[in-house]
Amino acid sequence: MTADPDLISRPAAPGSKADSRSYDEVMHCNRCGFCTSFCPTYLATGDEGLSPRGRNQTWRALMEGRLDPSDGRRSFDTCLLCGICTSVCFAQVPTARLMSQAREKVRQSQGAGGPMRFFLRVIVPRPALFEGLLKILYAGKKMGISRALNRWGVLRWISPRLEAAEEAVARAPKKFLRDLLPSAEKNAEVVHFLSCGPNCVNPEIGLATAHILKVQGVQAGTANTVCCGLPGQSFGDLEAARILARKNIKVLEEYPHATILIDDSSCAATVKEWPRFFEDDPLWRARAEAVSKRAMDVLEWLDSHPLALSAHAGKSIVTYHDACKARYAQGLVNEPRRFLAGVPGLEYRELPEADQCCGGGGTYQFMQPEISQAVGQRKAENISATGADLVLTSSVSCLLQLRNVLAKAQSKVQALHIVEFLARGK
Ligand code: SF4
Ligand code: SF4
Repeated sequence: MTADPDLISRPAAPGSKADSRSYDEVMHCNRCGFCTSFCPTYLATGDEGLSPRGRNQTWRALMEGRLDPSDGRRSFDTCLLCGICTSVCFAQVPTARLMSQAREKVRQSQGAGGPMRFFLRVIVPRPALFEGLLKILYAGKKMGISRALNRWGVLRWISPRLEAAEEAVARAPKKFLRDLLPSAEKNAEVVHFLSCGPNCVNPEIGLATAHILKVQGVQAGTANTVCCGLPGQSFGDLEAARILARKNIKVLEEYPHATILIDDSSCAATVKEWPRFFEDDPLWRARAEAVSKRAMDVLEWLDSHPLALSAHAGKSIVTYHDACKARYAQGLVNEPRRFLAGVPGLEYRELPEADQCCGGGGTYQFMQPEISQAVGQRKAENISATGADLVLTSSVSCLLQLRNVLAKAQSKVQALHIVEFLARGK
């Protein structure tokens, strides 16, 4: 089985626009080091190679042919792609995006094959295969098999990544969101995008979003969308990300007037970034732009469509963790704070270092468990220091990480997606 031929790119010309732009951007790094004290992986390790400055210089050396690609791998793979470095950099060097490109170069230098590439390009774009595979793994979890293997140390022995994945996904959902929500009509006002987290890990988030839309009287439903492409982008297989983006664009073009509502900020940021995936392909870039401009993070939706909430929702002391893909990729900082301030009875306490990544980073928490835990521990300490009962966020990746690190810290603070919290008040 191969990737769908209609969705794959034609071979890129050598010296593509993306390559020359990447080189141009990395040359803007003047090595001032201002970003280093904000970078979570540098703060956790003290390793210059794991700072934005170190990463940019490593990428530059690779592009100039002064470094073997495999020697840059640790520096590139350990980046959380959080984006805080760009927000404090005077030259606005887009280190996170450069690291995705650097990972792609390393993967390409290692040959075309690899089970991950097959998984991302062939399995993930086909919901019957991808979700079928997850259901088999979940059946093993429900029977206690993966838990027992973890307790006996077998998963750690195979790979610490498997151990981290088993711990992060605390329980298997009974059904996926795709099976629970109705399909959108062609003239739907809103298409509820099936992000992998709310679809396959925490369907209660998608159900809460659907409930809020219903209460607001919005005509909404799901479309036959697939993963947004973020895992491919993070892994360094940008072609896998493009395959998924094209498949989604084709589906979403069937609902030309609908707002595309996304209740996971990581996916919302990726959908908004689709046009960048096609820098060397003007036709697909135009199609991506037309679809992406209709995308809306649920944080934006909630800010612009206020809910009349009962006081029940607010009887809590609440803090809020900014998902990096909401804060840095989409600039959504005031929106969640503004609508939380309107929840009756809620006591809001700002989280120290709310602008710092939690260490979740999508699959990062499974791929780089040691650094992820070190970063997450600091986040758990900051959350506990607020004295809040609840910490809210807007990405499933952050939610899994927060639950995991809070449990390890034996904290009583409960982590919830913001829509789950708001749906409680309706
Ligand atoms: S990325 Fe920006 S802040 Fe960091 S060293 Fe380079 S120029 Fe300075
Ligand atoms: S994106 Fe985040 S982890 Fe990566 S270099 Fe920048 S600050 Fe560090």
